[in-house]
Amino acid sequence: MMNSMIALVTGGNKGIGREIAAQLAELGHTVVIGARSIERAEATAAELRANGGEVTAVALDVTDPASVAAAAGQVEARFGRLDALINNAGISHQPGADFAGQLPRSADVDHVRYVFETNVFGVITVTSAFLPLLRRSSAPRIVNVSSSAGSLASISDFANTDPVALGYVPSKTALTAVTMMYARDLVGEGILVNAVCPGFVATDLNNHRGIRTPAEGATSAVRMATIDANGPTGTFTDDAGPVAW
Ligand code: NDP
Repeated sequence: MMNSMIALVTGGNKGIGREIAAQLAELGHTVVIGARSIERAEATAAELRANGGEVTAVALDVTDPASVAAAAGQVEARFGRLDALINNAGISHQPGADFAGQLPRSADVDHVRYVFETNVFGVITVTSAFLPLLRRSSAPRIVNVSSSAGSLASISDFANTDPVALGYVPSKTALTAVTMMYARDLVGEGILVNAVCPGFVATDLNNHRGIRTPAEGATSAVRMATIDANGPTGTFTDDAGPVAW
C-alpha cells in the first residue's frame, strides 16, 4: 500500500466530493474537506472522523481568490505540503436560473460566465494556489472531476440542448483541456494531472436523476488520486477506461 497522503477535496461537503473524501479516509489518508461553508465542511469532517477517518475542514470558495489563498495557508500551517488535490467542486447552473423549454440561443451570457467561474476559472485559481504545496510532496497528483458531457467527440449527440447546458457542457470541455495543458506543463516536475468522469450520479447537481450512487461516482477520482508516482498523466477516464475528450 502506498504511503499515507494529505489530500484536499474541493466541494467535499456533499455529493461525489463527500464520497471521494470518505473513500480516501477509509484508505488511511488524511483528508481536508474544502467547502464554501465552513459549517458544512466541519459537519462532514466530523461525520467522517466518526467513521475513523483522519479528516479536517477548511473554508474554500473556489470563486474567491482570497478564500482560496487562506485555505492554502491553513493547509500549509497544518501539514506543510499537499499530496493530492482533487478539484471536485462544480455547478450545473447559476442558482435560480430557469430556462425551461428554451434553446441555447436564449442563453444569458452572465449565466454561462457564472458556471465557468466555478467549473474552470475556480479550478485554475485553486491549482495555482496549491501548486507550491504540491511541489513539496514526494508524489504529487491533481485530479479534475470533469464530465463526458463535455466530450467534443459526442457533444453533437448530447441530448440536453437547453441554455443551462450551454454553460455546463462547454465548461467541462474547457476543464478537460485545462487538465491536459497542466499535465504537459507539470510532467517534468513529476506532478501527475488527470481528469475523470464520475458517470451520471444521483446528486443535488441533477436533482438526483443520476443512475449511479455518489460512492460509485467517487471511485474514478479516488483511483487517480492514489496512482503511484510512475502512474499516468494527461488522461481522461471513467470507471470503464479512457474517455474521448
Ligand atoms: P453536488 O451539487 O452534490 O456537489 C457540488 C459540490 O461543489 C458541493 O459541495 C458544492 O458546495 C460545491 N461547490 C459549488 N460551488 C462551489 C464553490 N464556488 N466553491 C467551493 N465549492 C463549491 O454535485 P456533484 O457531487 O454531482 O458534483 C461534483 C462534481 O462532479 C462536479 O464537478 C460535477 O460537475 C461533476 N460531475 C457530476 C456528475 C453527476 O452526474 N452528478 C456527472 C459528471 C460530472 P455547496 O454545498 O456549498 O453548494
